[in-house]
Amino acid sequence: MTASARTRWILLAALVTSVTLVRAGAERQYDLRQRPGVTTTDDPRRVPIPPRDTSKDPVLVLRGGTLIDGTGAEPVANAVVVVQGDRVVDVGAAATVPLPAKVDRVIDVGGSWILPGLIDLHIHFTQQRGDDFQLYRDSPAAAAIRGVLLAAQLIDGGITTARDVGTLDDVALKIKEAAQRHMIDAPRVFWAGKLIGSRGGHGDEITETASGRPRSLEGSGRHRVASGPGDWRLAVREQIRMGADLIKLTAPFTKEEVAAAIDEAHMLGIRVTADAFGDYVTWAVEAKIDAIEHPLAIPDAAIRAMVKNGTAFVPTMTAFYNPTKLGYPSAHIPPGAFYYTMSRRFSMTHEDNMETLRKARAAGVKVGIGTDIPFENDQRYPSDYFQELRFFREAGYTNKEILMLATGSAGEILGIPDKLGTLQKGRLADVLVVGGDPLQDIENLRKMRLVIADGRVLRDRVTRPDASSALRP
Ligand SMILES: [Zn+2]
Repeated sequence: MTASARTRWILLAALVTSVTLVRAGAERQYDLRQRPGVTTTDDPRRVPIPPRDTSKDPVLVLRGGTLIDGTGAEPVANAVVVVQGDRVVDVGAAATVPLPAKVDRVIDVGGSWILPGLIDLHIHFTQQRGDDFQLYRDSPAAAAIRGVLLAAQLIDGGITTARDVGTLDDVALKIKEAAQRHMIDAPRVFWAGKLIGSRGGHGDEITETASGRPRSLEGSGRHRVASGPGDWRLAVREQIRMGADLIKLTAPFTKEEVAAAIDEAHMLGIRVTADAFGDYVTWAVEAKIDAIEHPLAIPDAAIRAMVKNGTAFVPTMTAFYNPTKLGYPSAHIPPGAFYYTMSRRFSMTHEDNMETLRKARAAGVKVGIGTDIPFENDQRYPSDYFQELRFFREAGYTNKEILMLATGSAGEILGIPDKLGTLQKGRLADVLVVGGDPLQDIENLRKMRLVIADGRVLRDRVTRPDASSALRP
């Protein structure tokens, strides 16, 4: 072998090795290598924490209802759910579940249906309400107040987990912490930190999407502007430093930028989702992103690639139905489209979006339920969540499938199906009891009777026999 041939051979070997390493990096299931049995935080970060003695935690028993556990299993009549502290410690048919020696509270839910709490995979606690536009200047404190109000509305709907995909400063984190400390009525929160995107991209435009109101030239506390692959990596690390449970990216970005951000998060076992459209979706899916938000001009080839790569799709049909069909009257936004924005210029009709969801269903894409209501949150939650479910029904999903999407498979998309989304032994105690069979009619999910979040009864509309009537002659 001549010297130049040897050099060529070495270069070729080096190239093959580096390509193999890059491929292995992209396809690796990033392994946290945690010891089995270690107690961790109940979020996708899985940070080790010291174990706590839970034996003295209060015991709550639900009995008499029909259990639909979120795994897809057949309903169980006359079921019992035993909750101790924040966990389900036993669940099943009454005949098979022994009651603990000490029970602090029993709630009879006979005639009702017991389900895992519902999950909304796309909200922003800081989003506007209908009454924000006339008199008040926005601020981080105002956004936090809105978030607390929205949290209570989610609980009213039986939504016990919310994925916040872009917040102002640390509003979503503080709501998560307040919920963990049982200070407010709120769902379990997983948050993405700030939206990461490019200068002038979605979130960094100087006019507000839909309303067209001017925004600061300086940017905002909602958006981390990044430029170049190295800076996109740094932006990811900044959100993880703040305790983000997932990362949210938004187009436009280069192929290199999106791949760098996804790789950076995946190396730390953190999932990534994106608000993207057209070819940006293709690039994100090629880089093994975990999910795509919104039905925005997604190419057919990208849908096929999502199936191959296991990319989830959270279409947020209501987020586009509302502006195109209804507008936001209280914000003086007429129906028709999103206006004043570079990032929503493509044609966008509800019918096209329904077609995208049908294609995703036909192809076998893993889908999730998320709402994303940018305005009028005070009027639209929780009813828009159920509107979203109705769109899935119209797209061909069965009631049983929709129930799974709203519970068990949402736990999978969040990356913690071992803790959340189903009513099984050892899972977190988030429970919804409704007064009608959702397998017969998905609208029965609106008949909320009882909401238990993190083991706490936050709503109780269970009808009980009137004790005083028994005393009357
Ligand atoms: Zn959003």
